[in-house]
Amino acid sequence: MQELIASRSFGSVGLGLAGKAAIVTGSTSGIGLGIARAFAAAGMNVMLNGLGATDAEDIRRDLGREFCVMTAYSGADMSKPEQIAAMFDDAVARFGKVDVLVNNAGIQHVEAIETFPPAKWDQIIAINLSAAFHAIRAAVPGMKSRKWGRIINVASAHALVASPFKSAYVTAKHGIVGLTKTVALETAEFGITANAICPGYVLTPLVEKQIPETARARNLTEDQVIRDVLLKAQPTRRFVTTEEIGALAVFLATDAAQSITGAALPVEGGWTAQ
Ligand code: NAD
Repeated sequence: MQELIASRSFGSVGLGLAGKAAIVTGSTSGIGLGIARAFAAAGMNVMLNGLGATDAEDIRRDLGREFCVMTAYSGADMSKPEQIAAMFDDAVARFGKVDVLVNNAGIQHVEAIETFPPAKWDQIIAINLSAAFHAIRAAVPGMKSRKWGRIINVASAHALVASPFKSAYVTAKHGIVGLTKTVALETAEFGITANAICPGYVLTPLVEKQIPETARARNLTEDQVIRDVLLKAQPTRRFVTTEEIGALAVFLATDAAQSITGAALPVEGGWTAQ
């Protein structure tokens, strides 16, 4: 019944995604929420995830009502492998399967290497990189048995180029591209694709928080950080939007994208073309 409703929901016609089940980690905010909305609009059932979001239940309920799809929320901490496994089991119990896994949860810390806190390094590697390994490990057996699956890792332009004062983040993001390529090769004959989306700057809470940190690290005003550091990197001189990332994630999930695998796809206004 839910599948029938989903298949009739606005925007889902023709994509072939109605009734597919997705987990989007870190989807109570920013890019993850943009991807979750785009998936729901395509008729997909979505498990949301995020840490400490007081409005998570409202987001879940509203998304389900707006697009007539099943939604669930997991408060799993992506730095804890056992909680990642429990989130996956919960999604299977609710939706019967996980067709699409989006590893998106991520944090940032901006500080010079010599004072970069080791605990922050460990936390960023755990959430931005190791979490994807644990979630992919859980997802691949079911995808292989159904001969269909989509793994989408939200990396960054910082998976392709570095910036100073972001040692842990740049390391984790470069690492996730390697993980993406490896998984793509291991799953290529099973109808599964694995790709990384590499956004440039998107004005989300993650970026809003690093503006004052970067201002301190570089001795600049916050306006100078936006103009001369963030948007300076992007020839388009505009922030990428969460809707643009959501639209690409939907496309990667469709059968039209079945030959795209192992790719790191820049969505960064020309940043890494320079
Ligand atoms: P955001 O701060 O808006 O959202 C981050 C999400 O991750 C939230 O839902 C938060 O609850 C969740 N999260 C954080 N720690 C978690 C944990 N331990 N367990 C579970 N969930 C956790 O950030 P965003 O900008 O939307 O970033 C999302 C992803 O996009 C990140 O991987 C980030 O590195 C990447 N990215 C962002 C930008 C940008 O400019 N905003 C650019 C490139 C890549």
